[in-house]
Amino acid sequence: MENNNRRQFIKTVGMGAAAIGAGLASSAVPAMAKDEKTYNWKMVTTWPPHSPMLGEGADKLAEWIEQMSGGRIKIQVYGAGELVPPLGVFDAVSQGTVEMGHGASYYWAGKSPAAQFFAAVPFGFNAQSLNAWLYAGGGMELWEEAYAKFNLKPFIAGNTGTQMGGWFNKEINSMADFNGLKMRIPGLGGKVLAKAGGNSVLVAGGEIYTNLERGVIDATEWVGPFHDMMLGLHKAAKYYYYPGWHELGTGLEAMVNLNVWNTLPADLKAIVEAATYKSNMWMLSGFEAKNNAALRELIDKHKIQLKQFPEPVLKGLKKLSTEVLEEIAASDPMSRKVYDSFLAFQKNIYEWNKISEEPYQKLKYL
Ligand code: CA
Repeated sequence: MENNNRRQFIKTVGMGAAAIGAGLASSAVPAMAKDEKTYNWKMVTTWPPHSPMLGEGADKLAEWIEQMSGGRIKIQVYGAGELVPPLGVFDAVSQGTVEMGHGASYYWAGKSPAAQFFAAVPFGFNAQSLNAWLYAGGGMELWEEAYAKFNLKPFIAGNTGTQMGGWFNKEINSMADFNGLKMRIPGLGGKVLAKAGGNSVLVAGGEIYTNLERGVIDATEWVGPFHDMMLGLHKAAKYYYYPGWHELGTGLEAMVNLNVWNTLPADLKAIVEAATYKSNMWMLSGFEAKNNAALRELIDKHKIQLKQFPEPVLKGLKKLSTEVLEEIAASDPMSRKVYDSFLAFQKNIYEWNKISEEPYQKLKYL
């Protein structure tokens, strides 16, 4: 190419590039202008402010939504009691007092019994199966249907992973050992304990240690090794039982007021949803890593006595759990619908697990 031609070529290409650039800019401008609106939201939570993993999960979700949206959605997070009481979260978001909430759906059993199935069910799903049911097995659609009546859009936004069976000051060798047992075990697990002849005692998180140490309660469940060790429960009880049959993988929720959600542009809806996926993965992974390290410390440093519930006890608890779940389903049509979907998915995924993970689980410890 001669110099002149080359100069001409560069000039033309340069102009072309400038023209393309200008074209991009002019077509991008109206789109940007349309979405320039900034949304300032409040998120209320059921967790103590910035509490490890749970409150932190809410903080991070807000942070990610702001980051991913380039600051178009800004969310101020409020811990339990800062704006509304922990159990006021559902109503505050439902009524539009605030735009967003973070908690666990089993807290809302009194509003919507079906909500319990999306958090934790005794002898129900672990985190992996819960995700599979919600994201890809029709569960999320049912959750949306159940919450639409309350003007709410739900998301799964975290998971505690498998919890522990709890701390006991006496051994559990048979179902008869639950007779008269005073245990802090809320929700569906508490209903099962009551059927077994025990007393489900309501104790706030901050009072569990003292109540257990003083014998006001005989046993308590809390979360898993990481959270339980922080509460010092190993200093107040003799035995640490597994598995956490009542919470095999408790799903946490985020929810947005449905009117607010419906007016959100499609790209921001996608961003909020993507942030909840990230939050779900962040929390489950964090719980697994922290529980694994904390269990090591409980065993090596604090010399705790780990015990497994004997199989006849687990069988007995499972039978009573099914009764509790059937009673809920019989009392409420939405719960029936959700429980039927849950059961069908569970049956199939158990078949699959039996030949996929189970043989490996048995082998890997050889
Ligand atoms: Ca628990």
